[in-house]
Amino acid sequence: MSARLDEKLEPIYQEVLHRNPGESEFHQAVREVLETMGPVLVKYPEFADKKIIQRICEPERQIIFRVPWQDDRGEIHINRAFRVEFNSALGPYKGGMRFHPSVYLGIIKFLGFEQIFKNALTGMPIGGGKGGSDFDPKGKSDDEIMRFCQSLMTELYRHLGEYTDVPAGDIGVGSREIGYMFGQYKRITNRYESGIFTGKGIGWGGSLARKEATGYGTVFFTHEMLKARGDTLEGKKVVVSGSGNVAIYAIEKAHELGAKVIACSDSAGVIIHEAGIDLETVKRIKEVERRRIKAYLEVHKDAKYVEDGNIWSVPCDIALPCATQNELNGKDAELLIKNGCIAVAEGANMPSTPEGIQVFQAAKIAYGPGKAANAGGVATSALEMQQNASRDSWSFDYTQKRLEEIMIGIHKSCYETADEFGAPGNYVIGANIAGFLKVARAMDA
Ligand code: GLU
Repeated sequence: MSARLDEKLEPIYQEVLHRNPGESEFHQAVREVLETMGPVLVKYPEFADKKIIQRICEPERQIIFRVPWQDDRGEIHINRAFRVEFNSALGPYKGGMRFHPSVYLGIIKFLGFEQIFKNALTGMPIGGGKGGSDFDPKGKSDDEIMRFCQSLMTELYRHLGEYTDVPAGDIGVGSREIGYMFGQYKRITNRYESGIFTGKGIGWGGSLARKEATGYGTVFFTHEMLKARGDTLEGKKVVVSGSGNVAIYAIEKAHELGAKVIACSDSAGVIIHEAGIDLETVKRIKEVERRRIKAYLEVHKDAKYVEDGNIWSVPCDIALPCATQNELNGKDAELLIKNGCIAVAEGANMPSTPEGIQVFQAAKIAYGPGKAANAGGVATSALEMQQNASRDSWSFDYTQKRLEEIMIGIHKSCYETADEFGAPGNYVIGANIAGFLKVARAMDA
């Protein structure tokens, strides 16, 4: 893999490999953090003595459970679901639920591990957790989704609580699924506890700007990275992978700030539209009709669709990977650099492989890792919790303003921490160390 670990950290990594066999995504996420921890242990030897890193690498609690449900024809299906309650040093476990056939314990652990540092960076009082299921929502009817969500919640409800564990959405989980899960919680407990879930609908305890927050936040972060280099988003050509919730609102904010998004994608193919992606069409196809992005061609004959295409081969100034983990490898990164890309910010969790990250860092472009660049979603979840706790609801503009301030704050803390540790402009080092120190200090205390 990438950089060598120093002698204090290598045994920690070996222990993680040994205790979590076969969980390659979790290994990758841990290694990426450990690679930046050397100077931290030199400066704060007490964290080594107290084995803070070893403790952070082991989830506080892991829940694995069966979810039986019945399809529309009466046939029974069995899925497996997870909730990994990773770290509660800073607040209740916080992190989304992912429904996707690829989900297994290693994916949920990698996501939960990332969430610890990401949530710490937001400056909000939230710990790290993640959950999900290998259930595939694609092609399921509304009723099937409802029955699955209710069955899942029949177990999960006992583990949740405003002060315990607060899930939200992730891939495959939006306000429809959250509605079914929240409703089931309410029926079982006979309590209207808004604070047990975030990403709720606006009419029932949700926060304005939560839906937009991850994508908007990624673009705010991108803008901050560019500003730090004396540049702006104005007139930049942008490529956004994915066409789900994160991608859609990244495109929206990029357009608002004067950039032009020329490509987006889904798991089947890539749409390239040099005139600029028409977001209303994407929203209709994905949010309302739940169809493939190929349908974009029905409206825009001048766009191009490449089945199974590689979005990273589209020349651009800025790349925003907003689809899923390991979607951008070393070769893709080289292509982007060769075609003149100057900034990459991750709307998805761990979308760049270690080789991809190395290429970006060697080229010295502005590279914002997901922990920092996509923290706007969970930060706004914390704002939703704040509104729920005070039985209030804020305006869109006010909530968005708070989100923007938080993203500016995250950028500043990553930037300054990178400087302090002798790696100016290295947001990987900045994000990992700034996030780690917050959690480590709280654990130590
Ligand atoms: N799933 C999102 C993330 O990866 C949001 C989590 C949340 O709002 O709790 O950060």
